Amino acid sequence: MTSRRAVVTGGAGFIGSHLCEALVAQGWKVTAVDNLVTGSTDNLAGLADHADFELVVADACEPLPLGGDVDAVLHLASMASPPDYLDHPIETLRAGSVATERALELARGSGARFLLASTSEVYGDPLEHPQSESYSGNVNPVGPRSVYDEAKRYAEALTMAYHRRFGLDAKIVRIFNTMGPRLRPADGRVVSNFLNQALEGVPLTVYGDGSQTRSFCYIDDEVRGIVALLESDHVGPMNIGNPDEFTVLQLAELVLEITGSASRLSFAALPADDPVRRRPDITLARTVLGWEPVVSLREGLELTLEWYRGGRVGSAPGPAA
Ligand code: UDP
Repeated sequence: MTSRRAVVTGGAGFIGSHLCEALVAQGWKVTAVDNLVTGSTDNLAGLADHADFELVVADACEPLPLGGDVDAVLHLASMASPPDYLDHPIETLRAGSVATERALELARGSGARFLLASTSEVYGDPLEHPQSESYSGNVNPVGPRSVYDEAKRYAEALTMAYHRRFGLDAKIVRIFNTMGPRLRPADGRVVSNFLNQALEGVPLTVYGDGSQTRSFCYIDDEVRGIVALLESDHVGPMNIGNPDEFTVLQLAELVLEITGSASRLSFAALPADDPVRRRPDITLARTVLGWEPVVSLREGLELTLEWYRGGRVGSAPGPAA
């Protein structure tokens, strides 16, 4: 049997690189497409010489220089950290719009299935808690975060339009906060900031009063869920995230405990439109995929810390089973 081929845009990123490894481990031939703005070839060190893997350095907004058959297109290319997308608002909107259309066209032209990496940010500052896929969200369309939230909402709309208009086999994964090896130390997100600050002995920067909540999923759990969704018959959006909810203050305390750091906390202003609560309802993933996360926040932080302490390049635990 010949291997199936997957194209992964954003394949050199944090989630993308783990996903490429998982797909190769499951017998796929994988072409990663990445412009290496926030992604890095270091993330792909474990695949560099693999016969079933290639990296094409290209911008997913441009026509993709790819030939041959494609069985699946997974569109992950986008900045995803608030400081990154706030610094690159237009690029972020184009990643959700222009690049999504190019990836959809690639899938349509090849008769491939399509998986869009979407986000819990489509729920905005949610008025429904926890958030299930049927909740249509509370997004400020003109706030600073809208460049990411609305780009992903448009990407979801375009994906479903291709499904309805062309019969494209389309899956949408709504990814909640994710952590693990290869989360860039300078990414600016809360887990990377707190781990770095604790290791450096400087104050942990809590935004607002730290009572806002997030639910953190370990990368191996996240990738196992994404691959299961890709292989399923499900069409449309599905939450893949860890439903254990923590305040930012609880996260800070846990980081101090596992690092043994004597850092204190410092408080800074809450960014505009920062969601107050976030927690996925994963009933759909449990029912359709039989998926649920198995790595706790503490275990996930410890594994991430190990990587932060140990050189930070390549050496992540093996791909998700
Ligand atoms: N946050 C924080 N300190 C930091 C970075 C982030 O308190 O150094 C807060 C942020 O305001 C948000 C939560 O932690 O309430 C998660 O932020 P992150 O940027 O990781 O991801 P988001 O869920 O906002 O996309």
